Amino acid sequence: MSARSTFAVWAGKITTKILKFSGSGGTSLPGKVVLKLCPDILGHLAKDMKVICVTGTNGKTTTCHVIRDMIEEKGSTVFCNDAGANMLGGVVSAFVNAAGWDGKVKTDYALLECDEAALRFIVEHFGELDVTAVVTNVFRDQLDRYGEVLTTVNKIRSGLEKLPNVKLILNADCSLTSSLSDVQHKEIHYFGINAPLYETASSDISDAVYCIHCKTKYKYHYHTFGHLGGFYCDNCGYERHTPDVALAKVLEWKDGSEVVEMDVFGNSVKAEVMLPGGYNLYNALAAVAVAHQIGLSDEQIVKVLGGLSTHFGRMEEVMLGDSKLHMVLVKNPAGFNEVLQFLIQQRPTGTIVFGLNDNFADGKDISWIYDVEFERLTEAAVGAEHFYFTGKRAYDMQLRLKYADFATDKFMVEKDYKTLITMLKQQGQETFLVLSYTCMLEFRDKLSEFVPLAKYAKE
Ligand SMILES: [Zn+2]
Repeated sequence: MSARSTFAVWAGKITTKILKFSGSGGTSLPGKVVLKLCPDILGHLAKDMKVICVTGTNGKTTTCHVIRDMIEEKGSTVFCNDAGANMLGGVVSAFVNAAGWDGKVKTDYALLECDEAALRFIVEHFGELDVTAVVTNVFRDQLDRYGEVLTTVNKIRSGLEKLPNVKLILNADCSLTSSLSDVQHKEIHYFGINAPLYETASSDISDAVYCIHCKTKYKYHYHTFGHLGGFYCDNCGYERHTPDVALAKVLEWKDGSEVVEMDVFGNSVKAEVMLPGGYNLYNALAAVAVAHQIGLSDEQIVKVLGGLSTHFGRMEEVMLGDSKLHMVLVKNPAGFNEVLQFLIQQRPTGTIVFGLNDNFADGKDISWIYDVEFERLTEAAVGAEHFYFTGKRAYDMQLRLKYADFATDKFMVEKDYKTLITMLKQQGQETFLVLSYTCMLEFRDKLSEFVPLAKYAKE
């Protein structure tokens, strides 16, 4: 620990305290101050630690939650960055918070949720350290910010290339993610799902239609969702790797959990995964791969999966008078299609609220809603009484559902959150709210005037 890095930690801690004292918390200033004083601070602070980075388009936060529980089950200590703070500044702040005044971090693990584009800046000074990197998947996300999916893959790749001793954990079912296997690594493991998840799987593979190596159209043995599944290229031979941690089958779909049969490095393991929706099974599998790698037994893994608390997995439940609200965040077509799959299974009878904003954090270009397969929900939602639309682009969303043949006599636009919430409360119905990021923040902010809410974790 150099004097300079210790001084930088002090400066960061003092800046944080001053900001807290002045009531202007939650800025990126402490991280900036620290980096100015000591640009390679992360290399110093992480020196004697085990680092786990989780990146990818969807599922980062949930995967981190499950990994955190796994690490704690093992009896080790860990700190994480806040879900909304997954750029360099946020990660630096998390390290500074975890460090003592002696400039040293005392936990065994640093568990870092990393934005795909920020990964290379975060890991830049880790060098030869013991780093495990989990890549959950690559989907199209906020097109106007990241460009195409291949750009995202290359950004992740340029991060991983800075880690010659990296232990990779990759999604076998994602042709984009598993192409990262060719970066230099010390170990590599894959997770995946060995069979179709649903009877009527979505076949929208538009995010990755053509082979990343030779541009031939992929063929599939089966699909799970989006472009994920048993892909292969019969021109160059690129194909899905056999996963080390695989979901063999879902034995039972429950309300908010699934009973599954897994293959964990050759052992057949039965577990109940306490996360709602099939999309979360990938996040659980990624965490199981990490857990196995850090030495948890199969029994410990099963215990953690069965004990995950329900606020995980993006679906939040709140009682508003007699109305049960289920709130879920959507931020891209793949994630939205998974939420629709969940709704199809629920066969909703009450109200569904769709909320869409077009602020920077939602993506300025909302044309992505035309890549969401609302048509698949039309029939399953015939029993629903109301479809409400809110947010700045409520009318665009309403038009999209009109095209998908939803019953327009059940439509209503209400952009005023307070009016909307009052109405939902009076109805006393089960209500699903499907909201884009800033719409979720605004809605929750207003909802907190009606009912107490937990602090919001992005994703
Ligand atoms: Zn090919």
